[in-house]
Amino acid sequence: MERLESCNSTWLIDEALMRFCRIPRGCDPANAISASWQRYFSFSDDPETGAFRVALDETRTHWLSSCRHRDPCARCGGEVTREVVLAPPPTVAAGGALT
Ligand SMILES: [Zn+2]
Repeated sequence: MERLESCNSTWLIDEALMRFCRIPRGCDPANAISASWQRYFSFSDDPETGAFRVALDETRTHWLSSCRHRDPCARCGGEVTREVVLAPPPTVAAGGALT
């Protein structure tokens, strides 16, 4: 049984039975017993980038892909520089009411 941590989920990959399930991160993996398992047809893993994906159909046209969560993590990372400030919508700026 392979266990992978992505930013949002814990993935459990059962290579023997070719099935996987995802549970929310922070949940007890013991709960995975009652989680819904899904069949997969191929598992592709790229340790270099941390990306991984599973094929959902036999023809391998539908994939579910994700990335490993790392510490520190460039994707969710708990890093303050992640915060995004949005510019006000153009209509507000052009309205002239907020001078
Ligand atoms: Zn992350």
